[in-house]
Amino acid sequence: MATRWETARSVWIEDDGGSFILQDSAGPGATASPADWQALPRSRHADIAALLGASLPRRCAHSSIYPEGFAFCPVCGESLTTPARDTGAPGWRGVEAMTTSAQNAGAPEWWGVDASLPRHVPQGLPVTALPLAAAIEARAPDAPARPDITLPAAPNAVCVFAAARFGYAAQRLLALAYTRNALQYWDPCARLWHVLAAEEGASALTFTVSDYAWLPAEQSARRGEVAIVPTASGLFRLLIDPLRDSYRTEPVLQAPLVSAPGAARRRIACLFKGSAGVALWTAQADGADPEVLACPAIPDSDWSRPLFYDDRLIWLHAEGHLLWQSGGAPTWVPWPAGWRPKRDFGGPVQSRDGRLWLIGHDGQAYSFVELGTASAQVEPIAGARLGFATLLFRRGHPVINEPWDTETIEDPAENESLVLPLLQQFNGLRHQPAGLVLRVERYTGRVESALESMVLPQVTVEWIGQRNVRLDELVRLARPADCLPFIYDGCLWLHHPDWSQIRGWRLKDAA
Ligand SMILES: [Zn+2]
Repeated sequence: MATRWETARSVWIEDDGGSFILQDSAGPGATASPADWQALPRSRHADIAALLGASLPRRCAHSSIYPEGFAFCPVCGESLTTPARDTGAPGWRGVEAMTTSAQNAGAPEWWGVDASLPRHVPQGLPVTALPLAAAIEARAPDAPARPDITLPAAPNAVCVFAAARFGYAAQRLLALAYTRNALQYWDPCARLWHVLAAEEGASALTFTVSDYAWLPAEQSARRGEVAIVPTASGLFRLLIDPLRDSYRTEPVLQAPLVSAPGAARRRIACLFKGSAGVALWTAQADGADPEVLACPAIPDSDWSRPLFYDDRLIWLHAEGHLLWQSGGAPTWVPWPAGWRPKRDFGGPVQSRDGRLWLIGHDGQAYSFVELGTASAQVEPIAGARLGFATLLFRRGHPVINEPWDTETIEDPAENESLVLPLLQQFNGLRHQPAGLVLRVERYTGRVESALESMVLPQVTVEWIGQRNVRLDELVRLARPADCLPFIYDGCLWLHHPDWSQIRGWRLKDAA
């Protein structure tokens, strides 16, 4: 007689021989997902057991898996391998992630802090509230400048990353290759990337018409729910099923999209091609209460991912920017005549009074143009500056007051380097910004050349803060701005599409 076992999140059948078969792993509020455990390759068992919180046999062969919480085989009494306790390490929903909830990153237990950004920090820029400085600046002063660990790069290397529990018992890493329709799942037990297969009817995940950004699902979302993603055919909810190595999608908006979506508190919005030109679609985060708003005549491709700041969503374009506040009409603000933004220099920066500015060039000189108003103030500057938010550099020197102020020269030798910020840690200290940067050593050429085509012979990965920490030395790097940092499994990682390995630095001691 088969015996039925029910745990808090799953249902199991034990056959006469004492072998357990998973019937339903969905748990409360999730869709049923019976897995054919016997059909799964043996190499997947450890990962699946960790995802479910289930136990594995140690010495006996009565079953290849046991329900959550089992410490002993019920047939012979042999002890079982139980999954390691989840450390509560913070997740990562993409540097570009916006959230519709007040809480930003997921359950940051061991950090002991609220990882959401305060309201006066723009959302949609590479700014995190995770206290990376405390961990990185505590590294031994004589620690060698090299990664602590590496991960093999995902086979489709142009991607965005998300690390979260996605409703399972353990945190997992996803790499979505949005130019190649490949959703890649890292199995940390087998140390292998899997490309998840599309379930029947699932949308392709390619999106290339504008810059990519997704809207991460809330922590309380259904099991497997990852994000609301833009695709060529509309906005979709993306759900993974690692037990079947597959994903599925649910439509939120089926229309040809023009931009990535953004979140304005409880509402989400994106641009799409309507019958009368580009229009703005908005709805509640669950898709309820949808609304379509006409836009002025605006471009239908090549938009930046949106920012959310001062109650407004902002999409940037080479010709101008679009502003939208919930409850109002979208407003198009062209740039001053002859002026063109330099979007690849970083992103909008903040002045001391809280206004946002974007760097650009009018054919004669660089300048900062104020965002959000048709009567924009313009602040001329003498040379290129790289950065975003309040992490800004002129060549090797920080700019720590107004974005157009003179740089702070601590070491004149840094005239011959170029600092490219990758990730800012928000710390509330305008006079001492912290973050991860690349320092291009001994480079006196044009900033544009360094970003575009040149192979840079010597680049340092560096943490800037109360203490600067050299983390790695790179040889022959091209397109440095393609470096993408993310947080997963208690480590800071750095990925570049040209690298075969993702470089990682531990954020806490193994102890
Ligand atoms: Zn046994």
